[in-house]
Amino acid sequence: MPDIRDVVIIGSGPAGLTAAIYTARASLRPLVIEGEPSSTSDQPGGQLMLTTEVENYPGFPDGIMGPDLMHAFRAQACRFGAEFITEKATAVDVGERPFTVHVGDDTVLARSVIVATGARSLTLGLESEARLLGYGVSTCATCDGFFHRGFEIAVVGGGDSALEEALFLTKFATKVTLIHRRKELRASRIMQDRAHANPKIEFLWDSVVTDVLGEISVEGIKVRNVATDAEHVLPLHGLFVAIGHLPNTDIFRGILDMDDAGYLQTTGHGSWTNVEGVFACGDVQDHVYRQAITAAGSGCMAAIDAERWLAEQDAHAE
Ligand code: NAP
Repeated sequence: MPDIRDVVIIGSGPAGLTAAIYTARASLRPLVIEGEPSSTSDQPGGQLMLTTEVENYPGFPDGIMGPDLMHAFRAQACRFGAEFITEKATAVDVGERPFTVHVGDDTVLARSVIVATGARSLTLGLESEARLLGYGVSTCATCDGFFHRGFEIAVVGGGDSALEEALFLTKFATKVTLIHRRKELRASRIMQDRAHANPKIEFLWDSVVTDVLGEISVEGIKVRNVATDAEHVLPLHGLFVAIGHLPNTDIFRGILDMDDAGYLQTTGHGSWTNVEGVFACGDVQDHVYRQAITAAGSGCMAAIDAERWLAEQDAHAE
């Protein structure tokens, strides 16, 4: 008889690992398909593996490095018996029970599945941007704005996220330069009005970042005007890239309900998807909050939902 797991968790950021801790403590022997090492956020540990210091995760008054936090989450899940496959899930079949999760040529059978595959921030694709990510380059103002108190910084993007981040960052920075590749913003009128009214925000139109300067941390950027081709250096303490996010939902397309942007849809306050026995938590179903603590909280919810659903199935089978 093939081994049928009670719970298979796909993804190992704060949401997936919290779901692993809770389901392991509930004696459900979770199997976590944690992803494979890479330089992107869909590696084991998720987006926090790409950050440096985390100062807003409760319980760490002196802050903690993102990777250390995720190693601690994982160790806690292991302590209660969670097991891990360090590969990516490549396909899922939830058409019949038990569900099948494909991991390359191998398959895993599952009574329930918790999807915690997260999302990734879009980036500019510059080598220097990747090298300095966490060292002055950031994709999260809530996480990293505080480090730029009293300095000049820039935000790239012209949508609501970019303007929201720029407005938030004016609490810390002496000046925020908003760099947009066109002359018109994509953001909503109200956000545009707020940004234009803020004396700390300066706009650099028709401009793209071509390089991030600095060896150990960000010291400036190179900006090119796309209309004139003129390039200049802007000295800066930090660069926030806010050009959108993509949920990691490719393998669920046509299988689980998602919104137009590809985020999984869950019902009400819970983690239920449109397929009974499949639950979703963390950034893969949240494009609003996107914090480690909210992802962890929703991972806990998914674990409790899965545990209760499995208990109901067992009760019906008796
Ligand atoms: P978005 O609306 O897709 O905007 C992305 C912005 O980044 C666009 O201005 C785009 O330029 C620019 N961009 C994309 N790729 C780029 C590149 N490679 N280099 C330079 N610039 C690039 O994404 P978002 O701002 O994250 O918003 C996503 C959704 O969430 C939207 O529906 C938004 O309204 C919503 N949202 C709402 C709020 C709020 O209401 N408070 C806050 C945040 C987000 P172009 O304009 O030239 O395409």
